[in-house]
Amino acid sequence: MSDCLFCRIAAGEINSRIVYEDQDILAFHDLNPQAPTHILIIPRRHMDRLSGAVQTDAELLGKLQLAAAKIAVSLGVEKAFRLVTNNGRAAGQSVDHLHYHLLAGRKLMWPPG
Ligand code: AMP
Ligand code: ZN
Repeated sequence: MSDCLFCRIAAGEINSRIVYEDQDILAFHDLNPQAPTHILIIPRRHMDRLSGAVQTDAELLGKLQLAAAKIAVSLGVEKAFRLVTNNGRAAGQSVDHLHYHLLAGRKLMWPPG
């Protein structure tokens, strides 16, 4: 989708500070970090949000979680991090391309706001 911000980042049309990439997944620093470590993990293929996922997305969704765990290790935050996706406007989703936030490096409150 040419008008999707994260598709454009995945295509390299918009710069990002990449921390991990493979054929299916890209991960980069959030532009407006909410924690000392704040990484966005996205599938290269466009999906609006998790609620639109179907059975054939199962492998990709699993890969996203495994990538998150790998990234946490590579950044040295594997002992304490949060992985979250905002699904829908009311939940805080502002970019309609599925993404997981990996947050770490400060005390993370529960429940989140
Ligand atoms: P969400 O609000 O859950 O949809 O998350 C979207 C995230 O994308 C926010 O945390 C933004 O700070 C981040 N963001 C927006 N534009 C960019 C960009 N060009 N590069 C990196 N992160 C971005
Ligand atoms: Zn997209």
